[in-house]
Amino acid sequence: MQHDVIVLGAGLAGLAAARDLAAAGTDVLVLEARDRVGGRVEQTRLPDGRTVQLGGEVVGRAHTAYLGLAEELGLKLVPSYVAEPGRMVRATPEGRSAGEPPHWFGPGDAALHERLGAEFTALAATVDPDDPWSHPDATALDRLSVAGWLRSRHATPAVVRLWEIGQLALASGSYERTSLLAALRKSASVPGAGPGDYDYDDWEGLRLAEGSATLAEVMGRALAPRIRLGSPVAAVDIRPGRSTVRLATGEILTAGAVVSALPVGPLRAVSVTGVSDARLASLHRQRHATAAKFAAVYDRPFWRADDLNGLSECEGVLGSTWPQNEGILSALIPPERYGVLLGTPPHLRVPELLAEVATLYGDEAHRPLSCHLRLWGSDPWTLGYVTQWSPGEVTAVGPLHGTHEPPFYVCGSDQWVAGYMEGAVRTGRAAAREALRRG
Ligand SMILES: Cc1cc2nc3c(=O)[nH]c(=O)nc-3n(C[C@H](O)[C@H](O)[C@H](O)COP(=O)(O)OP(=O)(O)OC[C@H]3O[C@@H](n4cnc5c(N)ncnc54)[C@H](O)[C@@H]3O)c2cc1C
Repeated sequence: MQHDVIVLGAGLAGLAAARDLAAAGTDVLVLEARDRVGGRVEQTRLPDGRTVQLGGEVVGRAHTAYLGLAEELGLKLVPSYVAEPGRMVRATPEGRSAGEPPHWFGPGDAALHERLGAEFTALAATVDPDDPWSHPDATALDRLSVAGWLRSRHATPAVVRLWEIGQLALASGSYERTSLLAALRKSASVPGAGPGDYDYDDWEGLRLAEGSATLAEVMGRALAPRIRLGSPVAAVDIRPGRSTVRLATGEILTAGAVVSALPVGPLRAVSVTGVSDARLASLHRQRHATAAKFAAVYDRPFWRADDLNGLSECEGVLGSTWPQNEGILSALIPPERYGVLLGTPPHLRVPELLAEVATLYGDEAHRPLSCHLRLWGSDPWTLGYVTQWSPGEVTAVGPLHGTHEPPFYVCGSDQWVAGYMEGAVRTGRAAAREALRRG
């Protein structure tokens, strides 16, 4: 039997695409390697009813595609950790401070940081997030790293360190290895963003009350008869009118069109024929920041007693913490420290991470109800976390980024400016629209 469309991957992108295709009367089949839907959004429910988010978690006010889909599905958004009262902690090997300024700042650093934030925002306003390649200085801006740009603007090492600790808190790759053009593009995708490279409120101010993976679970339930779980795709051959998809088992399926909603790492392992060399080169050039997520569940948010909000930026193996739900701390291990975590004997990983949390919030951190560590960077069906754009890479990936070669359509958060659940929903729905337009 030939399907109208086969969608590869049942993350938010694949599900959003399949949902719109099915709603338009298309015979769509979704092939998913794992035995669950959701991909990089995943949650587990505790006996006390709280959910623990193990992957994607928060969204921002400008994430209109995600917010629109949540509304269509009747899911409620509530303020995220950014609404928590109290001070943020910064911890480095030589000290710890709560609130502003960071403990390593000297005279003049705060004003310089503010000035550079304003300069960055002004420069970002010159970049079209949908077409950064059209910028008159695209090549030069792409070649420069964000940290290199800061130094070229006379940033002190203390200011560069503040930008870097913030970037690693997000678990995106170091600003020493991040294209300035990519960072400007990301910032430009949030209209009216405040000064600076990243505003927590703009990008992370909201979360789904029921837990972020609920979005995938609801779509997955509605699409259930059309989804084949435990079905890794090994090869795709694109032909007008009749494309074939071969599963790892050897089974062959056929369709009029194929929508790839796979992360760029696993996609490299899939043989794709029948599309242009330029498209494959562009897709295969993209890379991910590898990261792990750690969640520690407590019976109460004990950090509040010290007027702390649970948010931290740190230079341990952990890059950050924030409260994801009442009494539950999330934490990220950034790519620069992922190897250190992998090198730690498995039985020592959680105790050592808790010891770092204790340096932030005190000894009660050693007594969680449960802990959850998810090594996304080495998960075979993700092989990463979110996209990372090294210097030169926006140019190398080029304007084919996020575009289609009918009847081969490409979506997934990696095909948006910088990953994120918004990128998944936005590109998934756009791919469905394009496939329907082309009939
Ligand atoms: C720890 C962590 C924290 C994050 N935090 C946030 C956050 O707070 N806010 C935010 O907006 N974003 C966050 N993100 C990013 C966000 O979760 C992802 O960008 C988004 O969910 C990706 O959706 P996707 O559909 O593009 O890809 P995925 O969710 O990766 O879906 C791809 C699917 O393809 C499947 N697959 C892979 N290979 C094959 C194959 N060969 N055959 C068949 N199926 C295959 C996978 O199993 C998966 O289900 C986070 C991600 C992680 C990992």
